[in-house]
Amino acid sequence: MKPSLLIILILVLSWSVSGQLNDPLVLGNPSNAASDLSQSNNYLVTHNGYELSYNKERGAANWVAWHLQKSDIGKAERTDAFAPDTTLPTDWWIKPSDYTGSGYDRGHMIPSKDRSSSEDINRVTFLMSNMQPQAPKLNEKTWKYLEDYTRELVSKGNEAYVYAGCYGNKGRIKDKVTIPSNCFKIIVVLPEGDDDLKRISVLTRVIAVDMPNDESVSIRWRTYLTTVDEIESKTGFDFLSNVSNSIQAYLESKKDSESAETGGNDRQTGDKGAPSVNTDSNGRKYYLGAKGGCYYLTASGKKSYVDKKYCSDEEAPPEPPKKIEPEPPTITESGDRKYIRGPKGGCYYINGSGKKIYVDKSLCN
Ligand code: MN
Ligand code: MN
Repeated sequence: MKPSLLIILILVLSWSVSGQLNDPLVLGNPSNAASDLSQSNNYLVTHNGYELSYNKERGAANWVAWHLQKSDIGKAERTDAFAPDTTLPTDWWIKPSDYTGSGYDRGHMIPSKDRSSSEDINRVTFLMSNMQPQAPKLNEKTWKYLEDYTRELVSKGNEAYVYAGCYGNKGRIKDKVTIPSNCFKIIVVLPEGDDDLKRISVLTRVIAVDMPNDESVSIRWRTYLTTVDEIESKTGFDFLSNVSNSIQAYLESKKDSESAETGGNDRQTGDKGAPSVNTDSNGRKYYLGAKGGCYYLTASGKKSYVDKKYCSDEEAPPEPPKKIEPEPPTITESGDRKYIRGPKGGCYYINGSGKKIYVDKSLCN
């Protein structure tokens, strides 16, 4: 075989392999970002696993886009490898330390956990071009709960295309990074399958949220459901631009009713649980019901309602409820009398009128 033929063969093979990966921008490039250094505020960056439009002026992305499927979620630990995005020109870099002392978290757009199939791919989510200054409560609660919910949908037979970004200006950190007033997210949910763009229809589920970037944010992401149209008018971007005009217009004009009406139930998979709003130190998850009740799911899958404080907006995770599992009473017989050891260790017998008469504990031994 001639070397040139070999090269062509390799090119064809590598093209067909990469063709199997999902292009995060299959539904459209919302700002026509391009890898052209002269457009520094709308500069397309392609990373392994996601793409983004970088805005040099803001020191952060306009939007980050990725595709999520079950195989993206694995057992790799968070690498915490915060680092400048060295694919950008040096004078555009934001360093991890630039956020230090600002009071804002380095909030991921594509979440670390969405790329947990290997350590190498996880590391890429820690590039600073994927970060936004997020209020701690937004990053650690509301935004995270929606991330969890998206992975829950994907773990149950769906795949998703996600756009996330922030907009608005509440000031600057070290005159390098703009503090956004809001962060938005658009999630297009499809049952697992091929030819994704062609499968988008008026029945496709689209979840769009627009959240305030401050500590007054509610932990309930559903409070911030909105339409893609609203986000487009706030940001000036055009999402889902590869979807046909009539379907695009329909999908962009409606709020996700599955989230709003049923508390996030997924009818396709029969999932009863809304995303958990709290996890206690035993790992038990608490869910907020559509009517405001708070429950956890028992081993048999039943809802067990608890005090609402377990679903509250508190910063601190709740203490797990005390287990009330009384030990079965031990009965010691002595003559005609039965001595019973109570759950707290006391020893008693029941007299003729049905009263407990406590006696020396030794009688229960
Ligand atoms: Mn985060
Ligand atoms: Mn659009």
